[in-house]
Amino acid sequence: MKPSVLVVNCGSSSLKLALFDERENKLASALAERLGTQDAFARIAGDSETIALPAGANHQQALQTLISTLRERELMPDEPVSIGHRVVHGGETFREAVIIDNHVVEAIKDCAGLAPLHNPVNLSGIEATRALFPDVPQIAVFDTAYHQTLAPRAYLYALPESYYRNWHVRRYGFHGISHFFMANETARRLGKTLETTSIISAHLGNGCSITAIRDGLSVDTSMGLTPLEGLIMGTRSGDIDPGLFDYLGTCGIPEREVYNVLNHRSGLLGISGKTNDMRTLCDLADNGHEPSALAIEIFCFRLAKYVGAMMASLHRLDALVFTGGIGENSSRVRSKTLSHLGLLGFDIDAGLNGHHGRLSDGRIDKADSRFPVLVIPTNEELVIAREAARLAAHC
Ligand code: AMP
Repeated sequence: MKPSVLVVNCGSSSLKLALFDERENKLASALAERLGTQDAFARIAGDSETIALPAGANHQQALQTLISTLRERELMPDEPVSIGHRVVHGGETFREAVIIDNHVVEAIKDCAGLAPLHNPVNLSGIEATRALFPDVPQIAVFDTAYHQTLAPRAYLYALPESYYRNWHVRRYGFHGISHFFMANETARRLGKTLETTSIISAHLGNGCSITAIRDGLSVDTSMGLTPLEGLIMGTRSGDIDPGLFDYLGTCGIPEREVYNVLNHRSGLLGISGKTNDMRTLCDLADNGHEPSALAIEIFCFRLAKYVGAMMASLHRLDALVFTGGIGENSSRVRSKTLSHLGLLGFDIDAGLNGHHGRLSDGRIDKADSRFPVLVIPTNEELVIAREAARLAAHC
């Protein structure tokens, strides 16, 4: 039998599968999108043909279809030796990845109030693969777990303490799987151990967050109780004055609508009035569309302020690292952001930045920059596969 690890990532309306061999090579991947709608479809990576899904197909149906297609095409000839699931919210219960049993399933359900769009679909993925592969160990890897090392000074809000005690209101942080990968990969590239590596990791995709990592542990992060806090994102506002809710209430806009706007119609989309896509925004800005230029300006300024804020948690900085669709690909965002941080001594090389660090070990800093700056593609699937293989070895 070929030992392989299956990674399952259920998003609110999407599903991604990846299959790795024991040498961490990706053997196959597949995805389903627009689940729950009339236009649901699936596809095996590298294949132009789409696979029909019933209208309104849910995550379980998509998963069954994709697994049987992978089997038919002999891309997955044997049962995997373990299955790793991305789970968005582990609350304070999960500080690390765990082998899934009925207690774990109940605990993930208990955290669903904190991530109502995500934990239920993560659970439906878990239930579907448990039914399909009842003898294969299943492992849950949490997006919040890496940030469970934050100290109270970083995770508590300045609210009545009963809010934390009674309703678990605190900062949890997200993108933990990606930030953990960045910490490991930066350590490897700098020739250090994880335990002696201190970095600031900026994950800039459609969702954006930044994390201070001290001696390999997350010590501060920009997302909070929900993924709405912190940096400006594609459609999310990031930090906002909570007084906004009351004020807009007096203007006749209900609280639910404001919350919806902050999540879905703000950020780059809101400021530009055009798009949440950084590539398109850069094109628009180059063609004289001022609101798009302003959106990029505000995005970078907020990010620069957060880089400064993350310094408060570190005793040393081994590197500032960029990842995510924007972090990996936008030289403009990186240089604009760092142009605000000259006082801290960051200095990047325009040529290396233009090549997104791909010509080197990822470094884009000038020789006399006070701190190394790196661009590193994230690989969350690989973290999940590694955790699944590691824990399955104990079964
Ligand atoms: P992700 O959520 O990590 O897939 O990132 C999506 C974001 O990355 C979108 O805003 C894309 O426009 C942005 N992105 C991808 N490629 C580029 C690029 N070459 N230049 C600028 N932004 C990019």
